[in-house]
Amino acid sequence: AIGAASSTLHGFADLRALQQSAGLKLIKAGRGVWVHDEAGRPLLEAASGMWCASLGFGDPELVEAAIEQFKTLPYYHTLGGKSVVPSEVLSERLLAKSPIGKGKVYFACTGSEGNDFLVKFVRFANNAAGLPKKKKFISRTNGYHGATLAASSLTGIAGNHKGFDLPLPGFLHTADPHYYRNALPGESEDDFCQRMVRELRTLVESEGPETIAGFLAEPVGGAGGVVIPPAGYYTRVQELLQGFGIPFFSDEVITGVGRLGDWFGSDTMGIKPRAIVMGKGLTSAYFPLSAVILEQELVDRITEGSDRNGHYFAHGATYAGHPVGCAIALAVLDIIERRNILDHVKRMAEVFKRRLLALQEHPLVGHARCVGLVGAVELRPLPGAAGDPGGELVKKVHAIAENRYGLIFRKLANNVCAFSPPLVITEEEINELFDRFIAALDSAMV
Ligand code: PMP
Repeated sequence: AIGAASSTLHGFADLRALQQSAGLKLIKAGRGVWVHDEAGRPLLEAASGMWCASLGFGDPELVEAAIEQFKTLPYYHTLGGKSVVPSEVLSERLLAKSPIGKGKVYFACTGSEGNDFLVKFVRFANNAAGLPKKKKFISRTNGYHGATLAASSLTGIAGNHKGFDLPLPGFLHTADPHYYRNALPGESEDDFCQRMVRELRTLVESEGPETIAGFLAEPVGGAGGVVIPPAGYYTRVQELLQGFGIPFFSDEVITGVGRLGDWFGSDTMGIKPRAIVMGKGLTSAYFPLSAVILEQELVDRITEGSDRNGHYFAHGATYAGHPVGCAIALAVLDIIERRNILDHVKRMAEVFKRRLLALQEHPLVGHARCVGLVGAVELRPLPGAAGDPGGELVKKVHAIAENRYGLIFRKLANNVCAFSPPLVITEEEINELFDRFIAALDSAMV
């Protein structure tokens, strides 16, 4: 039996409350968009776990793919001239689908590790190419890029830096392009985009463009509040970066593999990245696997540069290219193709959007937004009620939704309720999701 207090050190949690055993919920099983708690009670999982179980829970084909690979070769490394078949096939298939074109793929275990690798790789490549000053990274306020040292330095959420002596030197942040939250009074979307780009330009110029190794952004921000920049933002940002010779790197840990209705969120949002980091839905969360797709020009800097300088690319990891993870990812790609999941996402996105935007008529809802199957609403206290800087209303709605109505969503800072259901969700289940959410909102008003 599990003891009264949790012995697992939890992240993103009130450790004191868990120590006193309040608030720990054990999830014991899952099927499709549903998970079951200890009592066997079904909960509609509208967050796909941590934005990741894209094909839902308990997909028998994914389980079968894992078992087959476990039987054939449960592990081998991809270091020093050895490799495994699933890793090689997966690289080819990801490259063929990605907007990067020709290049190479590095595999790691988590999104954070993928982002850390990207930083190391680009710095090494720049050193090898005789550009040792080019080492700083710019990302955005409220961007989320992971929990390891470089990834949390790339992250632009103050709460993730506090107490950890972060960000590390050389990690800079530019403005959060969240129009709804950050536009000046009366500022048009276009003026807002121009202001965002002016801020970025000022940062680049004050640091010196020759010192900037890259700009990293999520096509649609996730943990920082489901940030969907206005149309035109990416065009302008990319024009600016191009003028300075600064590469755009896309963190597709959430948006990759169909979440926005295309294979890559960069395609949906009109981004032409020079590298893409993937994770989460790549294996539908059935195995920890991330991938960094690098364009050939960057890769060539290393092979040529290393030879010239005699450097050795001393980076490797025990589980890079793990055959089971890669075999599962291949099965994910097969399923998405065979079951026409991208078309399904596009169709379901219409239903999702209709129901989500309609929530704006609810007295507790301020703003609603979505792309594909990721969306959010911002709650606001009732007119005349006190302000809610601590997000008490979101906490209340979240608890009621889960405990009374069996609905799991993600609560984020700034009163955000985020939804990213498994891509396989049906129309009926989307309606169920929003019916339950409205019931929770209504209950929270009493
Ligand atoms: N990038 C983005 C956009 C993410 O959302 C996350 C995880 N929430 C990460 C990176 C880090 O991935 P992981 O938690 O697998 O390290």
